[in-house]
Amino acid sequence: MAGASRSKSSGGAAALFLDRDDTIVRDEGYMSRPEQLVLLPGAADALRRARAAGFRLYLVTNQSGIGRGYYALADAEACNRRLEELCGLRFDGICIAPERPDEPSRYRKPSPAYLLERIEADGLDPARCLAVGDKVSDLECGLAAGVPAALVARGATGAPRPDAAAFAAARGLPVYPSLAAAVDAALAAGGTATQTDSET
Ligand SMILES: [Mg+2]
Repeated sequence: MAGASRSKSSGGAAALFLDRDDTIVRDEGYMSRPEQLVLLPGAADALRRARAAGFRLYLVTNQSGIGRGYYALADAEACNRRLEELCGLRFDGICIAPERPDEPSRYRKPSPAYLLERIEADGLDPARCLAVGDKVSDLECGLAAGVPAALVARGATGAPRPDAAAFAAARGLPVYPSLAAAVDAALAAGGTATQTDSET
């Protein structure tokens, strides 16, 4: 089974690449107003503990509602500022992909472009990073960047999305009931990858 000896630490920093909707906050569907954001149980505290343990925190969020014309980039930015207020921290970086799924996009997940840029620019060690989200695209995004990925249950439902659970099972990726549980596991591993299919 994969273990610490399998990771190839480059001495770089550890980081979490975090999906927003249904991972950190409850997804109300195309949220455009800051007051709509409701943290999932334990999420804010988990992020603060990760930060305290030395993890950099990056928010990576597809917001096709912008491309669909439902709301503006400024609305998404206001929601993210509210998220930072609720969490009591500032993210080290935020990537908003505004395109619709049918539009060309550099950053829309599952594109790994943002992760690859941050790894290079910020001196991150991919093996000490973790991509966390509730969708297949979140997992694909991490793996395509050489970053271990973990699936969390969808928002407050307590259950993972079935397609994402199948994706994770086929690749041996861990599945957690919450972001808090995923962070706990990452902290216990010391930011060292324990599950990745990037070498298979
Ligand atoms: Mg999500």
